[in-house]
Amino acid sequence: MIGLGGEVGRDTCSRAGCVAAATWRLDWSNPRIHTDGRTKTWLACDEHVDYLRDFLAARDFPLAVAPLTETA
Ligand SMILES: [Zn+2]
Repeated sequence: MIGLGGEVGRDTCSRAGCVAAATWRLDWSNPRIHTDGRTKTWLACDEHVDYLRDFLAARDFPLAVAPLTETA
């Protein structure tokens, strides 16, 4: 079972309140604040990948979605 936080080595969904294991990664940037070319990475489970992608797409943020397993 899951402990009281501070755990490493388990990738969980970035959706608030979701503790499902992530199977997707979303690499995105906000051109307004990431002026040095950095990107942020969110992780998503199958259920929330569409939600998070739509959230970012609605803001016109550059976005790439990929299966998490390919990034190991
Ligand atoms: Zn989720």
